[in-house]
Amino acid sequence: ELESSPKKQQCAISSQWSSDYDESFLDDLSDTDSWFDDEENTSSLSDKEKTLLTLANMGYTVEEASLAMDRCGSCSEASLDELTDCICAAQMAKAADAYLPDDKPAKRLYNEYDKLKKRKSSVYESLSRKNQRGYEKKILNENEMIRIPKPMIGFGVPCLTESCQVTDRNLPEGATGPPYFYYENVALTPKGVWDSISRFLYDIEPEFVDSKYFCAAARKRGYIHNLPIHNRFPLLPLPPLTIHAAFPLTRNWWPTWDTRTKLNCLQTVIGSAKMTHRIRKALENWDREPPLHVQKYVRDECRKWNLVWVGRNKLAPLECDEVEMLLGFPRNHTRGGGISRTDRYKSLGNSFQVDTVAYHLSVLKYLYPGGINLLSLFSGIGGAEVALHRLGITLKNVLSVEISEVNRNIFRSWWEQTNQKGNLIEVPDVQQVDDNFLGQVMDSVGGFDLVVGGSPCNNLAGSNRVSRDGLDGKQSALFYDYYRILDSVRRMSRQE
Ligand code: SAH
Repeated sequence: ELESSPKKQQCAISSQWSSDYDESFLDDLSDTDSWFDDEENTSSLSDKEKTLLTLANMGYTVEEASLAMDRCGSCSEASLDELTDCICAAQMAKAADAYLPDDKPAKRLYNEYDKLKKRKSSVYESLSRKNQRGYEKKILNENEMIRIPKPMIGFGVPCLTESCQVTDRNLPEGATGPPYFYYENVALTPKGVWDSISRFLYDIEPEFVDSKYFCAAARKRGYIHNLPIHNRFPLLPLPPLTIHAAFPLTRNWWPTWDTRTKLNCLQTVIGSAKMTHRIRKALENWDREPPLHVQKYVRDECRKWNLVWVGRNKLAPLECDEVEMLLGFPRNHTRGGGISRTDRYKSLGNSFQVDTVAYHLSVLKYLYPGGINLLSLFSGIGGAEVALHRLGITLKNVLSVEISEVNRNIFRSWWEQTNQKGNLIEVPDVQQVDDNFLGQVMDSVGGFDLVVGGSPCNNLAGSNRVSRDGLDGKQSALFYDYYRILDSVRRMSRQE
C-alpha cells in the first residue's frame, strides 16, 4: 500500500519542499477577470461558483468545470492545475468516444479485458481465483479506487538522506520485463481511469510523482512501468528546485507577499499581455505594499498563469526557453525552423519532465550497457529520448510514432544535433502500427528493450463538451493503442 509505507513517509523531504501553495489556493480564489470591473457581482458568489468562473474564463465549459470539481474534491482540496488536469483527462475520454464509433471505450476496454482473462497464455491465467474475483469486484465497486499518495513521491525521489531507501515492490507474475515498458498520464483523472489503465497494464500499481521534487515546477503524473526501482540515480547537475534558484533575476522584484517557491504545472497556453498589463495598473495605484485584496488578486493570477516578477510591478509569463529549462530539455530544443511560439508552448506543455522520467529510466543503464532498442509511442518532442541520451544510454534503434509534424521536426532536429549514431524510424500514427509492421521492425532490429509512451491530453480544448456519458468512458482510445502495441511487442518478444 503506497500510502502507508513508513519509509516513504520519511521521504517526505524537508518542509521547504512540502509547500502547500498548490494544494489549497482555490478555497480563496476569486474570479479575477471580473474582480475590478464587477466586484459587486462576484463578491456574492460562493467559493465554488468563483472557481467555476475562473475555469470558464480559462476556456473550459461550465459543465466540464463542475464535473472536474465533483471528481477532484471540494475547492479546498484541489488546486487549479489539478482541476485542469482532470478536465483534460475527461476530454481525453470524450475523444475516445468519438474515436470508437461502434462502442463506448469503457465497454470496449472491458470486453478486451474479458478476452484477456480468457486467453490462454495470458498473464491472468496465472493469477489466483481469489485475485480474479478481486478484479471483478473492482469493476463493480466504483468506490474502490486507486488512491493518490501524499506526498506524491512514487517509489522515491532523489534525496540526500539515508532514510530515502525505497521499499521493495513485487510485480505481478507475468508483468516483468524484458521488454520493459513505461506509461505516463496525468495523475488526476476522472474516477476509475487509473484502475482501468492498471488493469490493462498487467495489474501494476501506478507510481504517482509530482515533478516539483525534481525541478522548480509542479507536474503531477502517474507512471505505470515494470522497471526495477532500486539503484535509481538522478541526472546531474540537479536542476534548481525553487523559482529563485531557477530565475535569480526575479529575486530583485519579488514582493514578500508573493510566497511562491515553486511554479504550478506548466500548461500549453500562457497568460496574456492584457492580463499582466491589468495587474501592473492595479499595483501602480499603491506606493508601497498594496492592500490585502489587491495582493490576493495578484497572487491568484500569478498561480493561475505561472507569472514571474521581471520588474517593478511587472509580471510576465515564462519564456519558451525558460519552460524548456524547467522541463529538462536543452535550450532552444523547440526553437526555430518555422515553429511558432504558440506551438512551442503547446508541445512543451504536453511533454515529459525529463529529470523525473530519467530518474525512473536510469536503471536501464546497468541493464543495457551497450544501449537499447526503443519503441517510442506518442513521442512528442522526445522527452524519453532526451532523458535516455542524458543518462548516457545509447539509442541503437528508435521507432518513433508521433502524429504532429511540428513535433516530429523538433525531435528529428534534436536527433541530428546530438549526432545520434543509431537508426531512427518515424511513423506518424499509432494506428498504422499493426502486428505485421511491428514484426518486420522487430525482426530487423532484434526486438525492443523498452516501450515508452504517454497518452495525449488535449489541454484547454474548451469547445470539447463533456457529457456524463463521456466520462463513463473512462479511458482514451489512444491508451488502448498503447496497450495493443505493447502487448503485441511482449507477445512477439516471447516467441523469438
Ligand atoms: N511524452 C511526449 C509527449 C506526449 S503528448 C513528450 O515528451 O513530448 C502526446 C503526443 O501524442 C502528442 O505529441 C500528440 O501529437 C501525439 N499523438 C496524438 N495522437 C496520435 C496518434 N494517433 N498517433 C501518434 N501520436 C499521436
